[in-house]
Amino acid sequence: MGNAKYNGRLPEDPAILEKEIDGIGRYTAGAICSMAYGISTPIVDGNIHRLLTRLLAIHAPQTAPGTIKVLWQVAEQLVHRLPQGQGIAGDWNQALMELGSQVCKPVNPDCDACPLQKGCKAYMELSRATEPPSSSSEVCDICTPIPSTMAGSVIPSVTVFPMRKEKKASRVEEEVVGVVEWRGEQGRRWLLTKRPEKGLLAGLFEPPTTPVAASVSAEERLDASLATLSDLLDVSSTDLRKDITPRYIGSIPHIFSHINMTYHIQHLVITTTTPPPISASGQERNAVWLDESGVEHANVGTGVKKVWAEVYGSWGSFEARVKVANKPAKKAKKVDKDPVGGGKVVKKIMMPLMPRKAEL
Ligand code: SF4
Repeated sequence: MGNAKYNGRLPEDPAILEKEIDGIGRYTAGAICSMAYGISTPIVDGNIHRLLTRLLAIHAPQTAPGTIKVLWQVAEQLVHRLPQGQGIAGDWNQALMELGSQVCKPVNPDCDACPLQKGCKAYMELSRATEPPSSSSEVCDICTPIPSTMAGSVIPSVTVFPMRKEKKASRVEEEVVGVVEWRGEQGRRWLLTKRPEKGLLAGLFEPPTTPVAASVSAEERLDASLATLSDLLDVSSTDLRKDITPRYIGSIPHIFSHINMTYHIQHLVITTTTPPPISASGQERNAVWLDESGVEHANVGTGVKKVWAEVYGSWGSFEARVKVANKPAKKAKKVDKDPVGGGKVVKKIMMPLMPRKAEL
């Protein structure tokens, strides 16, 4: 981080510090300059962000450039109104952070203990009985109206601020995962490919995986999986079909933060004399045949481990799971039926002894 240009001492100007020193952003530059050098400069961290949005009742997207700009401007105005003196800005910045983290908390803010309560717009809006909240697009350039479900004639809680982040709806996706196992005299191998270094599950290994539409049939899913396989291996799809024994294992859900995934699992066993060579296309996708040890040490995600467990019982196990056949349903106790009404016929009825003929 040090820079020879500054003789090992960080610049005292927050703008230069942010611009010249790698890894230092606006917040860190402000914190260093105000707390270490006593420079009158603001900071806005998460706690101060929340505190200011409540003080000013700003209902605007939290990370929007307009919101960030306004909050930094306000923080700057506040810090410049402080009496000038060594260390005052640093103490002020720390006090605001502390107030945000200890009093104006994200949940259950302690407004009764807050020294800024009288000047807090969110708190004042909360206590108004008749007027609608003023934080609306009509009176503020950056604010958006508070949803009617959250606000009636008054703000229901100061926690309406800052504006809630919109949750993106998860995408629904489906993929066929082909757990490809080669079995031969040399032992067993599994075909894995490496995902691209950027994006979802970057750089992790996985069995050949093919995206499919939700509407496709089981047969079409198998076709899609075999098409991917014939692309990864240097073998014609006709030969591949001859040498492969597919077994549909099942479909499992796997939830990512933004994707609701369904994996349709195929166990594809190849029994050629040697593992089919990887094609040029397979090499581009870093496809490899791995033995047990290679598979165990491959860097894979939890989704792959779940898929593996469906085929082999658990991650690191290599014995194909045999589904226990459903036990035959217990035979119902044989019960004599009343041929007419279908009810039980009770056979053992205590009958009085019948008089013998001689006794009559
Ligand atoms: S009065 Fe409540 S909402 Fe306003 S700044 Fe203080 S703790 Fe935060």
